[in-house]
Amino acid sequence: MPDFAYNKSIKNIPPDWHDILSSSIETSDELAKYFHVDKKKIQKVAKRYPMRINPYYLSLMIKAGDPIWRQAVPDQMEIENSFEIDDPLAEESQSPVPNLIHRYPDRVLFMVSSQCAVYCRFCMRKRKVGAPFAVTDETVREGINYIKKTKSIREVLVSGGDPLLLEDDDLNNLLTKLREISHVEIIRIHTRVPCTLPQRITKNLAKILKRFHPLFINIHFNHPDEITCQASRACAELADAGIPLGCQTVLLKGINNNPRVMKLLMQKLLKIRVRPYYIFHADPVKGTAHFRTSINDGLKIMAALRGYVSGMCVPHYMIDLPGGGGKIPLLPEYVKDVIDGKLKIKNYKGEFFEYPLNF
Ligand SMILES: *Cc1c(COP(=O)(O)O)cnc(C)c1O
Ligand code: SF4
Repeated sequence: MPDFAYNKSIKNIPPDWHDILSSSIETSDELAKYFHVDKKKIQKVAKRYPMRINPYYLSLMIKAGDPIWRQAVPDQMEIENSFEIDDPLAEESQSPVPNLIHRYPDRVLFMVSSQCAVYCRFCMRKRKVGAPFAVTDETVREGINYIKKTKSIREVLVSGGDPLLLEDDDLNNLLTKLREISHVEIIRIHTRVPCTLPQRITKNLAKILKRFHPLFINIHFNHPDEITCQASRACAELADAGIPLGCQTVLLKGINNNPRVMKLLMQKLLKIRVRPYYIFHADPVKGTAHFRTSINDGLKIMAALRGYVSGMCVPHYMIDLPGGGGKIPLLPEYVKDVIDGKLKIKNYKGEFFEYPLNF
């Protein structure tokens, strides 16, 4: 697969992921070497919400304002006054111990890293990511103890920040501890690394992960230009280790709120053996209002997928209810009416059919 979205002015991407990460752009002076930007404005935003753009992800930006650029370059709109709150999903109030959210009966979300390979401007955990001391050995220990003593937990979602930024040994230790707990049946890792730093997915990492099956990985891709040779190699490495891969995409204004773009993304994901799982409507998190789009945009995208592309690459469109009410799917309306015991149904092409409620 050709790397069609490749900025030729960015050379010398080191082969080792540690070196890539440590040469990330974190100040507006560094960014100004590559793009014509208002340094003062960007620095002001980055002071509130950290910037990190590693050279690999930077290399996918062709020009200022393109869909990759907008996901990673700070924008003044992030700090403009808005009505949103830092934590609309009430994650903090559903945390029995720090950095662990227990919202659903049988599964918990466990944040084991506050670092990411790129700080996405639209992040729903903006309040937390990039904070150096948000995750400590102590919070991880407390989380594991909580999981151990809570027998109703069948699944642990290892999340963050990005858990795959942990060193191999640390990740191995963490997963070993989780696997020692007999009621934990499923481990699910949430990561953006195959998209934002695919060099992190090494043969050794795949070897470690495959020892902890059943283990699932959900990746976060938002745009077809993110599916590069490197990303597809990273996903192949994981899929070959027997790990089922899913994708959680966030619906973002000016980035992917377009049926053509979303359709291409879903098709490209399936080709690299990643099954689209969710499209999330962007949560009303403070500092992200400029990315939010209408529910109608999301429903139109779903209608443009169903029937037109393989059902294998049609995800669920989800909204996360405020106050910690959980995730709920939204669907375009196919059932238009119920008359005389019959459903009036519109198919994907807009043609009408009747279907009896009972045969
Ligand atoms: C999203 C989420 C989950 C997982 O939900 P699924 O629908 O199983 O993917 C679990 N816990 C929390 C707190 C979540 O936000
Ligand atoms: S990788 Fe995920 S957690 Fe990290 S900044 Fe991006 S969206 Fe947020």
